[in-house]
Amino acid sequence: MGYTKDDIISLTRDLKVKFIRLQFVDIFGVVKNVAIPISQLEDVLDGKLMFDGSSIEGFTRIQESDMYLKPDLDSFAIFPWKPRDGAEARLICDIYNPDGTPFQGSPRQILKNVIEEAKAMGYTMYAGPEPEFFMFLTDEKGKPTIETHDKGGYFDLSPIDLGENARRDIVLTLEEMGFEVEAAHHEVAPGQHEIDFKYSDALKTADNIATFRFVTKIIAKQHGLHATFMPKPVFGINGSGMHIHQSLFTDGKNAFADENGEAGLSEIARYYVGGILKHAPGFTAITNPLVNSYKRLVPGYEAPVYICWSAKNRSALVRVPAAGGVKTRIELRSPDPSANPYLALAVILAAGLDGIKNKIDPGHQVYNNIYHMTDEEREKAGIKSLPGSLKEALELLEQDEVIKKALGTHVYEHFVAAKKLEWDTYRTKVHTWELDEYAEVY
Ligand code: GLU
Ligand code: MG
Ligand code: MG
Repeated sequence: MGYTKDDIISLTRDLKVKFIRLQFVDIFGVVKNVAIPISQLEDVLDGKLMFDGSSIEGFTRIQESDMYLKPDLDSFAIFPWKPRDGAEARLICDIYNPDGTPFQGSPRQILKNVIEEAKAMGYTMYAGPEPEFFMFLTDEKGKPTIETHDKGGYFDLSPIDLGENARRDIVLTLEEMGFEVEAAHHEVAPGQHEIDFKYSDALKTADNIATFRFVTKIIAKQHGLHATFMPKPVFGINGSGMHIHQSLFTDGKNAFADENGEAGLSEIARYYVGGILKHAPGFTAITNPLVNSYKRLVPGYEAPVYICWSAKNRSALVRVPAAGGVKTRIELRSPDPSANPYLALAVILAAGLDGIKNKIDPGHQVYNNIYHMTDEEREKAGIKSLPGSLKEALELLEQDEVIKKALGTHVYEHFVAAKKLEWDTYRTKVHTWELDEYAEVY
């Protein structure tokens, strides 16, 4: 698009904007915003707007209390659910220190750093996400239940799919905000949906995921439903993933495509996959950041468990969709929609680039359904598993220097400290399952 400062000023005037929301995320990817009356627009556009960073999760250090928000002008969008008269617009922001340097605790900055590294190697990453989510009914107090609104299944048509109205509204709202939605459908489980929007460069895609999540929640609420990106809300049925399709372009050409290569992949793509497979144990704490994420990564529910690649097999961590040519891409199937999209794309890209730098061979693709292989068969084939818990994932992250470097010291330290605490809270609490299993018997 390429908006200038003057474009934004006249747009806000034409659209009668009264408030600007300055949007950014904390280290967990939770969207934060500061609402600014339109009278302050000039200061906002000049990046002069100051805010107190110490109140934001993961930014907290005394010296981080005075920070500046600098808007990315291309992210200008109107909130379509707000009144037209006295409209609200948002701008996604980067965070700067008082001395004018980019704040290295901002997830958007972390992604920008890795994008720069890719650029120095001659590559631009394109990424297309497939976020899945559930919509549940709420109880009398407005708290989400795990009761769903419909009995629909994969690709079902109405009238069974009652969540469809909400989903259609979500799609229309996203389109009004400039998204190109490619597909929206009911997923396998009752109450589960997927909305796929068009691939973009990595930064735009991360911005889109962050925006998509809160728009989905707002619109679902207007339909009396609660949308959740929790990865595994219901035991015994599919969880919600966020597969990420990705490719690298160099000089306007898809660097992953080679019609003579195995599965249509170039050598660069093979090395990239090699890097992804090598660093998957290390980056899973970022792509699957909740205690609950690991309840999705189990056999039998179309979520990956084993670290290997395959052209067809959906049980593999990396799949190569049958596309070819300019559309050649790989699909990473482990990430879930609770991940911080900026950090997730940063570590995935860093892993792939490391594969290219060190010419990491991804090995043979796996043809069998890996869920059906025995432990010995997998061991013989050299197929390892993803971490089985957040605790294990954090330990593996601590051992992966490439991923730690991509996150930078600030984000790495704050993230790990917060997640260790999360694990400890979970570990020491008594859960319903324990009471059901033990209270009577012992
Ligand atoms: N819901 C599945 C997952 O947890 C993915 C289903 C699909 O292939 O779209 O990853
Ligand atoms: Mg899906
Ligand atoms: Mg997929």
